[in-house]
Amino acid sequence: MGGSEEPTEVVKDDELDRNGLAICLVSGGMDSCVTAAIANEENDELAFLHVSYGQRTETRERESFEKLADHYGVKSRLVVSLEQLARIGGSSLTDTRIPVSQADLSAQGIPSSYVPFRNAHLLAAAVSWAEVQQASSVYIGAVAEDSSGYPDCRPEFYDAFQQVVNVGTKPETRIEIRTPVIQMKKSEIVAKGVELSAPLHLTWSCYRESKLACGTCDSCALRLRAFRMAGINDPIPYVLDSNRFAY
Ligand SMILES: [Zn+2]
Repeated sequence: MGGSEEPTEVVKDDELDRNGLAICLVSGGMDSCVTAAIANEENDELAFLHVSYGQRTETRERESFEKLADHYGVKSRLVVSLEQLARIGGSSLTDTRIPVSQADLSAQGIPSSYVPFRNAHLLAAAVSWAEVQQASSVYIGAVAEDSSGYPDCRPEFYDAFQQVVNVGTKPETRIEIRTPVIQMKKSEIVAKGVELSAPLHLTWSCYRESKLACGTCDSCALRLRAFRMAGINDPIPYVLDSNRFAY
């Protein structure tokens, strides 16, 4: 049939367009900001997903999420609440009876801020949205070695989850789980962010406070050490300026 070639071409073009969409899990922290900056380089279009799960600094993180989405001109935004994580508890991030511990970057073991199996919940929501949106990838800013040592930040977890996605979605669905900063040191993430002009000043990492970062929780300490090692001044405000050089 003479007219069969043109429609085929049109369908192909549409598919190519859809392949340019990436879903980014954006908490509002530094790692997810730099991950989004990398995704911005690698894809035609981004959609941002934010998950609130009853964490202490939820409102502040959400504010950062919106500002980061504005910065990258992201129109497609989704905010979901996974309140089961707070109800289940077991983490100092979601259970106010468990205090947020002072930073100890030399401590062994998994810190009390670990939210049990959280990243599986986040990925599940992201993959569901990606399948509906026909996105080709899901980006998550997990960091394996040079961070808190959460088990759901290990590369093996993402390899296994990729298999879950492959067998748990429609046969024609192709979604790649991307973890571009997983092997980086935190200081390398800062440097990468600066290289890509990522808006690090809009991010929030503190587990405890929402106006001035405490500078003494694990997340603040990891962040401050990363900026210090990268030789860059952290642009966000801290309760005590002296904490900038404490780690
Ligand atoms: Zn803090």
